[in-house]
Amino acid sequence: MKFFVIKKRHLCFVLCAILVLVGLGVYFGLTAQAYQPNLSPTVVIDAGHGGTDGGAVGRKTGITESEINLQYAQTLKEVLQNLGINVVMTRTDLNGLYSPFASNKKKDDMEKRKRIIEESGADLVVSVHMNAFPLSSSRGAQVFYGLNNQRGEALAASVQTRLQDVSAYAKEGVKEGDFYILNCTSLPGILVEFGFLSNAEEEALLVSEDYRKQMCDAVALGILNFYEM
Ligand SMILES: [Zn+2]
Repeated sequence: MKFFVIKKRHLCFVLCAILVLVGLGVYFGLTAQAYQPNLSPTVVIDAGHGGTDGGAVGRKTGITESEINLQYAQTLKEVLQNLGINVVMTRTDLNGLYSPFASNKKKDDMEKRKRIIEESGADLVVSVHMNAFPLSSSRGAQVFYGLNNQRGEALAASVQTRLQDVSAYAKEGVKEGDFYILNCTSLPGILVEFGFLSNAEEEALLVSEDYRKQMCDAVALGILNFYEM
């Protein structure tokens, strides 16, 4: 009889151990499954312009859009990487992506960017730009999404809302934009015009490191919110 009791206790222990192990397995299995789609998304960050294409120019500082876009792209890269998000950059220096022998440098440059997006296995695209307008009073960040791209629109709305938290001048709502960088892919993508280099007050903010960090944090938060939808 005593022997039987010990055996029963052993059996109880083994059953409990199995239950715990199965429980842990199910827990971690489900957790991994739930996180899998967005476990480590890949974002292509595209610093607009470059090389002979300087883009807009700061009215006061003379900074080129190509240069400031690269600064924002690099800061955004750091912020996203710190959140565990993979980043692929279309350019990492001031040069354009075109071949010096290309007959149409702009076309060659844009096609290279498209190829980087295609080969990156990315989940979404963020193109970084600065705005300019003859009317110097125009200001405010504006997020665009690709034509008929509903997920792009949701991503744009999420990012625009967070930019409004940083700047009272950030535009209300998002805009559909006929931009090659957004329409060359079916991925959700946004083109962020961080502000107007033609507005002296906004230009001063845009070139400051503190504002750049705040705006890049806002874009990153908008991306995280998009994944939580
Ligand atoms: Zn631009």
